Amino acid sequence: MDELIFPKKEWRLTNEQEELCNLSKNLGSKRFSKRAFKYDSEASFPVENYKDLAEKGLLGICVPKKYGGFGADLKTYMLAAAEIGRYCGATALTFNMHVSSCLWTSFLIDDLKLDEEIKIEHERLRSEHYKRIIQDGKIYAQPFSEGGAAAAGFKAFGTNALKVPDGWLVNGKKIFASLSGHADYYGVLCSAIRKKDECGSRKNTMYLAVPKNADGVSVEGDWDPLGMRGTVSRTLVFRDVFVSEKEQLMPAGVYPEAAARWPHMFMTLTPAYMGIAQAAFDFTIKYLRGEVEGMAPVKRRMYPTKQLAVAEMKVMLEQTKAIWFQAISEAGPDPSKESLMRAYAAQYTVMENSNKLTQLALRTCGGQAMLKTLPLERLYRDSRCGSLMLPWTAELCLDKLGTSTLYEEGESD
Ligand SMILES: Cc1cc2nc3c(=O)[nH]c(=O)nc-3n(C[C@H](O)[C@H](O)[C@H](O)COP(=O)(O)OP(=O)(O)OC[C@H]3O[C@@H](n4cnc5c(N)ncnc54)[C@H](O)[C@@H]3O)c2cc1C
Repeated sequence: MDELIFPKKEWRLTNEQEELCNLSKNLGSKRFSKRAFKYDSEASFPVENYKDLAEKGLLGICVPKKYGGFGADLKTYMLAAAEIGRYCGATALTFNMHVSSCLWTSFLIDDLKLDEEIKIEHERLRSEHYKRIIQDGKIYAQPFSEGGAAAAGFKAFGTNALKVPDGWLVNGKKIFASLSGHADYYGVLCSAIRKKDECGSRKNTMYLAVPKNADGVSVEGDWDPLGMRGTVSRTLVFRDVFVSEKEQLMPAGVYPEAAARWPHMFMTLTPAYMGIAQAAFDFTIKYLRGEVEGMAPVKRRMYPTKQLAVAEMKVMLEQTKAIWFQAISEAGPDPSKESLMRAYAAQYTVMENSNKLTQLALRTCGGQAMLKTLPLERLYRDSRCGSLMLPWTAELCLDKLGTSTLYEEGESD
């Protein structure tokens, strides 16, 4: 049985963190790892894995305890999700979309200074949303990408929510909507407008739960990508979809402030790739020791070239784990500039090193290791997708690190 990626003693985990990591690891190693090949080859959604997550209560990992969830904070969730990513990247990536809907609506918002009336209303609405997750096993997606600068954080969302009596009429399109056709609710970021021809603004961003079967919702286009195939991230189209007032996941206009004050939220896609990095390393060790299940026990560990490559992988894995663990340990509202830069550096490191580790693993293990019957080839393809994730793509992290390092706030040339 694999050890935790971050064992309790060395990484000073709490009992709760260890417990959730073990729960995730056991599901991953005993069940998800065996199904990963099928989801990848069929580009089908991990439906069975989600049943298991619901059964173990993990759909409510970040639902506050008073609503029946585990009440995990950002760091605890990230550690547990990395254990899932180790066995099925697509499950971990989509799990992030679901869990984010709980994080945005729970302690992130509790930290903001809101009018008492708004707080009471939010409490009423979120308790309904958590009840669906805990009691009915409902799943939430988080489609915000639109193919333009909105998902990168530079412009207002093009998807609009026009105010009408008792709710909103939503119109727009979201690309790469993971869990499309499988989530029960789409947690859509959109711009609130009062008139049909009004231009949305970022400060009027709304976060609404659009029910999967609402009139006017459609899932379009095919899905045959390089990697993360089990995410089924097809295009979602909303045509005059009526969304009732009770589906508001955050009070109007609050999202931009929450996002600005809690930048570590944008690291929540990294656990899937931290898990993949660990998986590539684990596989390489087993392969070189001749211990891969179902394969002839041929040992390759005695060759100095293999030993050197494994040493290189170990260094890269430890560096990746260290910066990631430090960055997620710092997650909280209003981080210092240094802390924010560390978060960008950690995001960049995990996304890029995850792919570098799978490359090294393939080169080192040799020819047979790239066969589709073994997981390495899937890990290699899945890992390549990490750096493309907005708003913190590898490029944008470098961009922000470059400017933040050379300029203080308000400075220009
Ligand atoms: C497997 C997978 C699953 C995904 N799941 C989801 C999901 O569930 N929900 C979701 O919302 N998204 C999801 N995404 C989308 C992801 O987060 C990105 O939004 C998407 O990959 C961007 O694709 P694009 O072609 O629009 O990118 P790009 O063209 O690279 O970026 C889009 C726009 O961002 C701006 N931009 C990009 N790079 C820069 C730069 N360096 N400087 C300035 N501006 C820049 C530009 O305006 C550009 O037109 C997923 C992606 C993948 C691969």
